[in-house]
Amino acid sequence: MEIGIVGGGLAGLAAARALKDRGFEPVVFDKGRGPGGRLSSRRTDLGALDLGAQYATAHNPEFRATVFGWLRDDVARRWSMTPSVRPPPRKRFQRRGPARFVGIPRMSAIARHLANDLDVRTATRVAAVVPASDGVRVRGEEDAELGCFDHVIVAAPAPQAQGIAPPADADVAKAIEAVEFAPCWAAAFEIPGGEATLPEACFINQGPIQWLARNGAKPERADGESVWVVHAGAEWSREWLETDGDTAAQGLWEALREQWPDLPEAPARSMAHRWRYARVTNPLERGSLADTHGVSYAGDWVADGRLEGAWLSGRRAAQRLLETANE
Ligand SMILES: Cc1cc2nc3c(=O)[nH]c(=O)nc-3n(C[C@H](O)[C@H](O)[C@H](O)COP(=O)(O)OP(=O)(O)OC[C@H]3O[C@@H](n4cnc5c(N)ncnc54)[C@H](O)[C@@H]3O)c2cc1C
Repeated sequence: MEIGIVGGGLAGLAAARALKDRGFEPVVFDKGRGPGGRLSSRRTDLGALDLGAQYATAHNPEFRATVFGWLRDDVARRWSMTPSVRPPPRKRFQRRGPARFVGIPRMSAIARHLANDLDVRTATRVAAVVPASDGVRVRGEEDAELGCFDHVIVAAPAPQAQGIAPPADADVAKAIEAVEFAPCWAAAFEIPGGEATLPEACFINQGPIQWLARNGAKPERADGESVWVVHAGAEWSREWLETDGDTAAQGLWEALREQWPDLPEAPARSMAHRWRYARVTNPLERGSLADTHGVSYAGDWVADGRLEGAWLSGRRAAQRLLETANE
């Protein structure tokens, strides 16, 4: 069975990994420069930084076993840090929250590990997935034929999946159409001596910023010792969606100074990155989603909107495919 996968984020890679482990040779297409999607880290002037997913939690036993494998393979470490909360919770003792795991030396190490011996074709944008009489055709830009497969798993965020592979089944189409994504502006600020003012990591429940972490506070980071990564909330990100990176960074710096007035007037250096499809607001909680004519969908939006959900969704899509292949 020839299998194509559109999207080399955690969902697509988990699907490809499961299929490869069962003897198949899936082909993964991703438009990005490397695999990982929202799990990837960016090389910036301020160093290699985790601008997307900050850490993984592992509630599901299957995913937890996989994360423990990453710990054994030196791909991930537990980040034993309890982020503070702002404003502080009323309860006297703050809960520690779930165990948090990070890729080392950056989040993208997890994606690279999964992609290791897979056929991942990066910098390859898929324009359309078209069921035909001889299989499912994957077309690239300028209608280039990228391959013809027995089955294609589309593991891109719902709005992109819908654009390239509109479902044939009315129920599947209705389900995908209802899924909503919120954007997120991420910014990074180099603040020498910032640890005197800022926490190492913090959930912020007031104002435009909702998360902040010192990149170098995570285990085994070579970069970002005095760089704080901040994530704007959905409302602010939506309002500023079409602005440029410099303006977004400036806006978020001002928001940061409103929270911590002791910060200097300007950071030493800054940058910003826009995630247009950052967080799914109403995940389907369904595992994977099968359409007719050899196409199925996977991704965090099909499951629960986190790394864990993306991984599980990719696995479910692969398992479902293997089951139907054996019927
Ligand atoms: C700022 C931010 C912070 C987050 N923090 C956390 C966190 O701390 N913990 C957590 O668990 N989760 C977090 N998340 C969510 C987590 O990153 C996602 O749930 C997970 O990475 C989604 O994986 P995925 O494979 O479903 O999608 P993606 O990672 O989005 O992968 C989809 C892939 O499809 C590719 N693609 C799309 N269209 C095409 C096309 N036409 N052709 C080819 N390729 C295409 C993209 O390039 C991408 O690589 C965060 C997300 C963001 C944005």
